[in-house]
Amino acid sequence: MVVVISPLQALVADQVRRYNIKTGYRAVSLSGSDAIAAFRENPDPGTRLVFMAPEDATSTAGRQFIANTPIKLGLVAIDEAHCIPEWGEDFRRAFRMIGTLRAVIPDVPFMALTATATEAVRSAVQTELHLTGEVVMGDLNRENITISRIQSTSMTSDFQPLVEDLQASGRDTKKHLIYLPTKQKCMAMFELLQDAVQGRGLVEVFHADLSPAKKKKVLEGLQAGDVRVVIATVAFGMGIDIPDVSCVISYGAPASVSQLYQQMGRAGRSSEVEAAYLVYHTTKEHEKAKPEVASILTEEGCLRKALLKHLGQSDMPQQDQCCSNCGGLTQDASCLLSERLPPAPKARKKPRPHREKTDNGGQLKQKLQQLRDQEFNLQPQFCFFGPCAVMTDETIDRLLKYCHRLHTKEDVKSVKGVSSTMVDSILAAIDEFFPEKSNQRNPPRRQGNPPRRQGNPPRRQGNPPRRQGNPPRRERIPPVRTTQGNPPETLRRSKRQQRNPLQEITNHV
Ligand SMILES: [Zn+2]
Repeated sequence: MVVVISPLQALVADQVRRYNIKTGYRAVSLSGSDAIAAFRENPDPGTRLVFMAPEDATSTAGRQFIANTPIKLGLVAIDEAHCIPEWGEDFRRAFRMIGTLRAVIPDVPFMALTATATEAVRSAVQTELHLTGEVVMGDLNRENITISRIQSTSMTSDFQPLVEDLQASGRDTKKHLIYLPTKQKCMAMFELLQDAVQGRGLVEVFHADLSPAKKKKVLEGLQAGDVRVVIATVAFGMGIDIPDVSCVISYGAPASVSQLYQQMGRAGRSSEVEAAYLVYHTTKEHEKAKPEVASILTEEGCLRKALLKHLGQSDMPQQDQCCSNCGGLTQDASCLLSERLPPAPKARKKPRPHREKTDNGGQLKQKLQQLRDQEFNLQPQFCFFGPCAVMTDETIDRLLKYCHRLHTKEDVKSVKGVSSTMVDSILAAIDEFFPEKSNQRNPPRRQGNPPRRQGNPPRRQGNPPRRQGNPPRRERIPPVRTTQGNPPETLRRSKRQQRNPLQEITNHV
């Protein structure tokens, strides 16, 4: 059994629900001494995860429970471990007490987990929890999120494209999350957008002073899709998981680089959602910001690399649609992801090598798993952790996803999580299942064209009757008045098509 110490009740409820649905085992959340006592007396033997808040875990009842659990305790995991230094000082002092549990159960390993740990945070967590084991870093790069830094002009002009999109597309506007530093600024932005959409409920505001019922209503509206834009302070934070937010905007310099990364992470949570993170800023804000934030706001090179470097990740494969400093994005200082276009072909100076497109993905995956198992058998120190300690499933998926871009050992090494001892064998496996193209000027796609052309004549035969019917229909269409409710669906769609070329591409894909 694993005890998970987690700070957020709302997050825990969701994790317990998902764990119970997805696995055959049971997870419980123990909140308060009564719940702890009840579980001690009558534990469900199928329980594998016990969630506790830091306050419960470090209470007298919690300590007694952890010292003598009714099911054998194999691990204590601390989730959102960056809260230990960030909140432990004064906000929730129980975080600082978690380390004292080690004296109660000296033989049980502790594991700290977080998605945002700078070098300083990692070091503080290790000290507090007396951790001496290895630090394992996952890939922090969120490939489906484009990062843009935009010089702010005025709130009205910065958000004009969003206003227009809300007016034209209404409930079809992509979901936006806009962060502002204070409640007052949130309200100013709320009034601007709310006026533009005439109280249609598409825009909501979220800050710490809202009642729990109102917060819940805003979240449910965003989840259901009735609310398209939420204007929020940092109160809209951990534990909130909306999978299809397409655009997160930090309007003004964030307080820290960790906060910037956490805000960015609220976009595109489903890997299928292409998303954008935009930081609007002014020169005045550079001067006031913390040096670490100012360095991102003035960074001349790749913003993604600078951000990841700050979080302790130095490797990352170069990607298209990376950031505003890398170029290739055309967003015209817009809030809208849809203004983004793929880079023009001219931008590519030298042709890149390409691999053959085959259906061998499954075979390559199998081969990579075999190579991992072989390596695992050669490394006895990993015997308690399983083959994933050598290379995780995520890394294998990443290799599969990017295999067409991996042509050299250096390319393979740049993929996060690849063991240096496996680089040669991985590249050989990719070469085996996705060989390099020998002649790239003769793409096989052309062979597929004739059958599509054969399909055209029947469609043309159908045209004359439709043309005969057109004149009367045109006469009946009344003039469109934008002030009277929504334009007809067809018009709205055609307008979106002009505005959202990328969305159309992704929809078809
Ligand atoms: Zn970049």
